[in-house]
Amino acid sequence: MIAADLSMTQDSRPVLGQAALSLQGLSRSFGSLQALSSVSLDIEEGEFFTIVGPSGSGKTTLLRILAGLDQPTEGQLLLRGRDITRLAPNKRPTAMVFQSLALFDHRTVGENVGFALKMRGIAKAKRDARARELLELVRLGAEYFDKPVTQCSGGERQRVALARVLASEPEILFFDEPLSALDYRLRKTLEVELRALQKRTGRTFVYITHSLEEAMVMSDRIGIMRDGQLVQVGSPAEIYGRPDSRFVASFMGEVNILKVAEGRLPELDLPLPGTPDGYVVLRPEALRLEEGTETGAPGFAARVAEVFRLGSRVQLHLESPAGLMIAELPAETQIRPGATARVSFAPEAAHWVAE
Ligand code: ATP
Repeated sequence: MIAADLSMTQDSRPVLGQAALSLQGLSRSFGSLQALSSVSLDIEEGEFFTIVGPSGSGKTTLLRILAGLDQPTEGQLLLRGRDITRLAPNKRPTAMVFQSLALFDHRTVGENVGFALKMRGIAKAKRDARARELLELVRLGAEYFDKPVTQCSGGERQRVALARVLASEPEILFFDEPLSALDYRLRKTLEVELRALQKRTGRTFVYITHSLEEAMVMSDRIGIMRDGQLVQVGSPAEIYGRPDSRFVASFMGEVNILKVAEGRLPELDLPLPGTPDGYVVLRPEALRLEEGTETGAPGFAARVAEVFRLGSRVQLHLESPAGLMIAELPAETQIRPGATARVSFAPEAAHWVAE
């Protein structure tokens, strides 16, 4: 019922094959600093799109332009084919959910959620009813309605803020690291809830974060930013399994990166026939270990420097001819620090990247 209520209105019905947002060569410079360099991308209707990148890579600059809080020095932004590059934020069917959780502290949860409706002149009974529906949508029960927001926990405030943004019925929601201030467990819970909320409402969510782990849980697609450029766009599985540079691969967590030259891995003195010069990325779980260093077995010799038990798996730090390497093995693996091992991997597990 609530989901139906939030569905697209007749006027803004999505046009088949037309992106919700089309970013066309967006650039932004601040004096001599190029914060954003020709970012082009189509974000589809009903998609959960996450922009990930290190600090200073241009995420906030991009999101502010998408939300209309800033303007690009070059390029265009289309909303379902319509140029909105210079349209004021309040004229757009979009809304931003800020990290700072700008709630009215002296008001109740219900008043906070109903604020946008009040601004639109909707009568109290109707807006209270709607606020209760929205609270239910973000999984806050009826008992929260009359609570002052000052008595809410961080996670509850986050949900109130979301319900308040949803009250204005935006078609596209922008999130600027909304969970970064919360503790780990709460963040994990809210990640799952946010994804579920996005599915229930069918809205387009554009989210920025430092945390690739967070992006992996929630997103349909992820865009990786580096130095103001969008360097790779893909599904979480594509980004994880087929990163197209060392930068993206290392951003995806702990990986082993080895140089390839003339069909060999020179550091490990191993052949890798047919592989062009560049690098290969090996996930920790791709490495196989056999204790002892029998000569003749394929692979390379390494010494187990550290053993970390991580619940369902064991992580090993290996001293190898290529320096520190990381392996992940099943939890039942019995191996001790100081052991020597023969390490191997299936050639197809080595993912090649040019740079
Ligand atoms: P973080 O994760 O730390 O928030 P970010 O990826 O969001 O970083 P941006 O805030 O977009 O990065 O900043 C990109 C670059 O643009 C940085 O070098 C930043 O210093 C610069 N920058 C951003 N806003 C301005 C501004 N108003 N004036 C001058 N430089 C700016």
